[in-house]
Amino acid sequence: MQWVYDFEAGSKEMKDILGGKGANLAEMSSIGLPVPQGFTVSTKVNFEYFENNNKLPEAVIKEIDEAVKRLEEKAGQKFNDAKNPLLVSVRSGAAISMPGMMDTVLNLGINEEVAETIGKNTDNYPFAYDNYRRFIQMYSDVVLEIPKSKFDKVLERHQLETGVKTFKEFDKERMLKVIKEYLEIVKMNTGEDFPIEARDQLLKAIEAVFRSWKNERAILYRKINGISDSLGTAVNVQRMVFGNYDGTSGTGVLFSRNPSSGKDELFGEFLFNAQGEDVVAGIRTPEPIANLKDHHPELHKEIFDLAKKLENHYKDVQDIEFTIERGKVYLLQTRNGKRTAKAAIKIAMDLVKEGLIDEKTALLRIPADSVSTLLHPDFSEKSKAEGTMLAKGLAASPGAAKGKVYFSAEDIVKASQRGEDCILVRKETSPEDLAGMLNAKGILTSRGGMTSHAAVVARSMGKTCVAGCSDVQVDEDAKLVKAGEHTLKEGDYISIDGSDGSVFLGELNFEESKTSDELEVLLDWSDKYSKTLVRANGDTPTDAKVAIGFRADGIGLCRTEHMFFDKDRITSVREMILAENLEERKVALEKIRPFQEDDFYNILKTMGQRPITVRLLDPPLHEFLPKTEQDVMDLVEQTGKTKEKIEAVSDSLHEFNPMLGHRGCRLALTYPEIYEMQTEALITAACKLKKENIETAVEIMIPLVGFNEELVILRKLVQETADRIIKDMGVELSYKIGTMIEIPRACLTADKVAMNADFFSFGTNDLTQMTMGFSRDDVNVFMGEYIDKKVFDVNPFVTIDREGVGQLVKMAVEKAKSTGKDIKIGVCGEHGGDPSSIEFLLSCGLQYVSCSPFRIPVAKIASAQYHIRQEMK
Ligand code: PEP
Ligand code: MG
Repeated sequence: MQWVYDFEAGSKEMKDILGGKGANLAEMSSIGLPVPQGFTVSTKVNFEYFENNNKLPEAVIKEIDEAVKRLEEKAGQKFNDAKNPLLVSVRSGAAISMPGMMDTVLNLGINEEVAETIGKNTDNYPFAYDNYRRFIQMYSDVVLEIPKSKFDKVLERHQLETGVKTFKEFDKERMLKVIKEYLEIVKMNTGEDFPIEARDQLLKAIEAVFRSWKNERAILYRKINGISDSLGTAVNVQRMVFGNYDGTSGTGVLFSRNPSSGKDELFGEFLFNAQGEDVVAGIRTPEPIANLKDHHPELHKEIFDLAKKLENHYKDVQDIEFTIERGKVYLLQTRNGKRTAKAAIKIAMDLVKEGLIDEKTALLRIPADSVSTLLHPDFSEKSKAEGTMLAKGLAASPGAAKGKVYFSAEDIVKASQRGEDCILVRKETSPEDLAGMLNAKGILTSRGGMTSHAAVVARSMGKTCVAGCSDVQVDEDAKLVKAGEHTLKEGDYISIDGSDGSVFLGELNFEESKTSDELEVLLDWSDKYSKTLVRANGDTPTDAKVAIGFRADGIGLCRTEHMFFDKDRITSVREMILAENLEERKVALEKIRPFQEDDFYNILKTMGQRPITVRLLDPPLHEFLPKTEQDVMDLVEQTGKTKEKIEAVSDSLHEFNPMLGHRGCRLALTYPEIYEMQTEALITAACKLKKENIETAVEIMIPLVGFNEELVILRKLVQETADRIIKDMGVELSYKIGTMIEIPRACLTADKVAMNADFFSFGTNDLTQMTMGFSRDDVNVFMGEYIDKKVFDVNPFVTIDREGVGQLVKMAVEKAKSTGKDIKIGVCGEHGGDPSSIEFLLSCGLQYVSCSPFRIPVAKIASAQYHIRQEMK
């Protein structure tokens, strides 16, 4: 086993052994870039160090000694040398970058004699002693665990006494006095003298860096970022170059392109006459890298050329650390630069244009979620930083919206007619708020989760929504919303950010507009490399048009109940639900039929030959029951029944747990005439279009099936009804009948269910609810705690729980396919628009995903990424 590698012996592929920093230092050395010489003690040693009771094993020490010898030869310098002493830096560097989490020691190898030699050689005593002072402080902090502040106090006292600003301005006598006091602090705290032998210092510093893998902040960082504790860090030992030498020296960090906007310009900062720690510590304010052009255009050019060279070599934006020593530039680190979503898109596309990467690589570099930033407005970072944040809720539907707060759909409609921008604020929304949601710029609710009505509907409309914002108290009657010390009344302004769930007082400013050309290119690429069909969840011709605009392959879920909730229809629907016998119900259904047929006609016409999955009535019964006095009075007028009678029937239909109650196919088993009417309306609409020579591809979907027997009964009903209409209308029309798989029992018996289904669509919202036993509507109350306490990492209603729910999906797909039937399988729960869930669902063998229209680009990119990765395997 080799433990220590000279930079020349490594490459960028060796991150596991050399850590990210070590691997890149090796790579830069091997392509001839100016990197100070050095070596890397491998990550494997970290593990050995802990196994060996926190001590470096002898075999490792032997390799370190040999590596030091080689370094001394290459550098032409020696540890503790009276003529030309070698100083080194000792830095951590894990395979996955953990910036600032572990320790670093600079200027190692120095002692009083060495400092004196350096002072003499350079004719720069302040520089030499400053290095010594810094080293004592840093080594004491990292290796001996003596707080930095003890040393700072000494320095401050001497600065006060002499009236100078920096150590370097002291005379030699004063410098030595400070150093003496530093050494006394060490003696007092450890009972031992400060080590003067470079080898001693080095071995102890290497051990301390390995130890820092287990310091509290590193452990926490790994936990938050899902980095394995077993990876370990490497330690890089490198000849020091000095940015604090003089006025022609300096240090800085830069990105080869702007990581915020993606613009092709150097972005970063530097400090003259400083070491890296000065930039980090913020003692002096660094200057923007562009200023270097004014002071030293030749250095700016050299750094620019190096940055471009690195970018060309790594074929990605680089985040670079450099030091200038007396006018000579050295590179100390490079890594792929982190960037904003917006920059990720621009950079990937620009690199394709420049011929550095191909389209597939570019697609893989764009976080699928980031494309939603192209579709929605954002608030400017500046305005968010300066704004007053009132609360934080769930980032339910992305985008930014601002306007006056209103507390009812009616008030929103009126205000928007007056031309006002408004935000609908409610405890939660219900289907009756649709008009308000449609006319509002955004929606804020204090209750409900990621699959609550507000969240689902807002996403389908592409409307900004912050849901489940329990930091605010909404009083709909008093028309007030409270957040901490602030109380807003109707008409006051707020701004909501649906991309991170934040709510601000007043009006924030929007970011400048975005281009849609980028989106078109991304859709082109995705369509080229994805083998998965992406459909939309949409219920109206408007949804269908948006979906087509994003190149949807069809509609995967048309929730017909959303057609029931229109203001002028709801009373008839209520009349149907509250009917006391078949005749009454049929009368009510006849009132709804023309609306349904008309809606189906329009949406089918918009979609044309693209398939459209129409789900027959599904929602929990309580959503239909009259809620207000006015609702009851409307029914009194329409049905001629007494108020008491209506209230009594309504009470009798009350359910304690409506989400698990009389809904979906259960409604149809008790009231078959509902599905019969819906099928008639749908097939009539399709037949009419056929007569107009417009082809359609209708798929009828039966929800909430748990038993094959339910499907047998309802398939027969739907099929007989559809065939009767087709025959009566005298056309030829084919259609499919399938089911949602959203009840665990349906997954467990999927082979049987498949025998009666032409297609399956996983309803992962309900499947998650029922597998976990978490109510979709109420889960938010404890979701935060569950995530904080790491019961799970992410909201399972957003990203599918692979281990539990995922297993059911996998099993259901296998069982369905085992029947030998050519059954088409997709998903239409909210997970169909979530990149991580898409990756998992496609790996289970799903052929299509369906999501809200505005998530289509995200789903397309995620699907393309899945297929590109598969191809690369
Ligand atoms: C589901 O349960 O995943 C689904 C798509 O249906 P709904 O959200 O309408 O219950
Ligand atoms: Mg469902």
